[in-house]
Amino acid sequence: MRVLEPLIELGRGLWTTLRSMFEKPVTTQYPEQKRPVKPRFRGRHVLKRYENGLEKCIGCALCAAACPADAIFVEAAENTDAIRYSPGERYASTYEINLLRCIYCGFCEDACPTEAIVLGDQYELSFTDRRQAIYPKEMLIEPVAAGASPTPQKTKPGEFTRSVPEMQDPKD
Ligand code: SF4
Ligand code: SF4
Repeated sequence: MRVLEPLIELGRGLWTTLRSMFEKPVTTQYPEQKRPVKPRFRGRHVLKRYENGLEKCIGCALCAAACPADAIFVEAAENTDAIRYSPGERYASTYEINLLRCIYCGFCEDACPTEAIVLGDQYELSFTDRRQAIYPKEMLIEPVAAGASPTPQKTKPGEFTRSVPEMQDPKD
């Protein structure tokens, strides 16, 4: 009986190999195939716009104050009705995030009064230089939706006086 034991074990091993040959493959052919991220995944930041194309960011720098890694730099400038980037008085003329410092904690998202900064689903980040890891506003802001106008916009006097509009997505 002891002579047969190795043969039984060998047969079991071969059966496992044979069975797995007919199973559905579990390997994902990345980067051609990408698996969807989980709903609460925190990837690279996106600066959002309203439906009419105005930027949600009002340059208040609360996100920078909340950031434990000191990864965000914001500089604000004044809006006018002739050159308007966002509702209210001010917009972010400079907005930078150092993605090498960021720990993806989401505090910036929580601190933002206009829901302008959102941690999205983008995880493909690679740099060959430290300076490339500093993403400026132009790389962070989402594209203008179809039918909306790019910023700066010319708006009617008194139309967008509040920094945090009463409507979530003010239309033209
Ligand atoms: S996710 Fe956290 S560490 Fe990264 S920029 Fe936002 S607050 Fe800073
Ligand atoms: S992203 Fe939000 S918190 Fe940061 S400066 Fe803009 S409006 Fe303020």
